[in-house]
Amino acid sequence: MGIIVQKFGGSSIANINRIKRVARRVVETKKQGHKVVVVVSALGDTTDNLVKLADKITKTPSEREMDMLMSTGEQVSVALLAMAIHKIGVEAISFTGSQVGIVTDGLHTKARIMQINTNRIDQQLKKNKVVIVAGFQGITLDQDITTLGRGGSDLTAVALAKVLKADVCEIYTDVDGVYTADPRMVAAAQKLDYISYEEMLELASLGAKVLQSRSVEFANKFNIPIHVRSSFNENKGTIISKEVKAMEDVLVSGVALNNDEAKITICSVPDRPGAAAIIFKKIADEDINVDMIIQNIGRQKKADISFTVLKEDLARAMKLSRQLSKEIGAGRVLKDENIAKLSVVGIGMRAHSGVAAKMFDCMAKAKINIQMISTSEIKISCVIDPKQAKKAVTQLHKDFGLAQKR
Ligand code: ASP
Ligand code: MG
Repeated sequence: MGIIVQKFGGSSIANINRIKRVARRVVETKKQGHKVVVVVSALGDTTDNLVKLADKITKTPSEREMDMLMSTGEQVSVALLAMAIHKIGVEAISFTGSQVGIVTDGLHTKARIMQINTNRIDQQLKKNKVVIVAGFQGITLDQDITTLGRGGSDLTAVALAKVLKADVCEIYTDVDGVYTADPRMVAAAQKLDYISYEEMLELASLGAKVLQSRSVEFANKFNIPIHVRSSFNENKGTIISKEVKAMEDVLVSGVALNNDEAKITICSVPDRPGAAAIIFKKIADEDINVDMIIQNIGRQKKADISFTVLKEDLARAMKLSRQLSKEIGAGRVLKDENIAKLSVVGIGMRAHSGVAAKMFDCMAKAKINIQMISTSEIKISCVIDPKQAKKAVTQLHKDFGLAQKR
């Protein structure tokens, strides 16, 4: 039998009992005849706590030192898990990212993996050992420790699955898989058996916290199947893979809600060619990502332009917008942090029309005002009042037939 990569997130190893449980699970997989490579995150909230420590010293820590600090969390996990597996009487060996040669570029706190040398892992697997690798970290060619962005252990696992030609990459977490909507909000939400990479990417970027977006991009690029499942039970989870024909028959796979964005409106922008170009060029130059844009109908050669940015970029974006407004002779700049972005995602939208119409109709019936709209090939998003968000999600979930078990 082949290699299985199993990744366990922070909540799955939050305490000693959970570490022991993970050890038993890993050993079970090995006893079934697989070669097992395990990737772990830091215990529980360790990484957040490390970040808080740094924050108490300085608000502008060196990113190199942040990586030095944050990478320690995973080193604790690998050692403890190796000990727990030894205790069961099975051979295991732990490694940091640098020890197994996960080489990255030098972009501290969000480094990209450039290559992985599998020699050391191969040797240990040949010796019949369980190999445990610290997630989220790598090393530059200059021997500086790097991290792969928050949630980056997923990426470590998927990348290892690729270079080791693993049969599957299992991501163990505290939920049963990927759902049609947030089960805490919609009681009728269903676990999906399958979802395509592209849908998962949309959902991840919309705030579904199940998987790090970059890991899904990587899996998509190299066609690595991911099985997201719970570490607390044996249930089959959700398989994330290339789209298969049957997926296209499903119009919408999920409804997502995101509260991470805020809206900025620049009033009375001179309605002439080039105004939008100036605004959005300057904003892009500051590395601020704009998501949705709407321009109302110009009156007296003026138009209002609204757009959304991440809340964390709002202060910078407001400052910039005020400057821009002066430069181009526009009017007041307003902000609204009290917005919710509601999206329906489904690969079936490529082949079927009418999804947008159905979504708007559903919102109209529920008397929910749509403030902004944006679409992609497989997604439609609307900005609405957050007070109506739960009602909207529930209604869309029902109208698109997601509440029925498929
Ligand atoms: N421990 C790191 C974090 O919390 C990496 C991970 O969890 O995947 O971001
Ligand atoms: Mg984590």
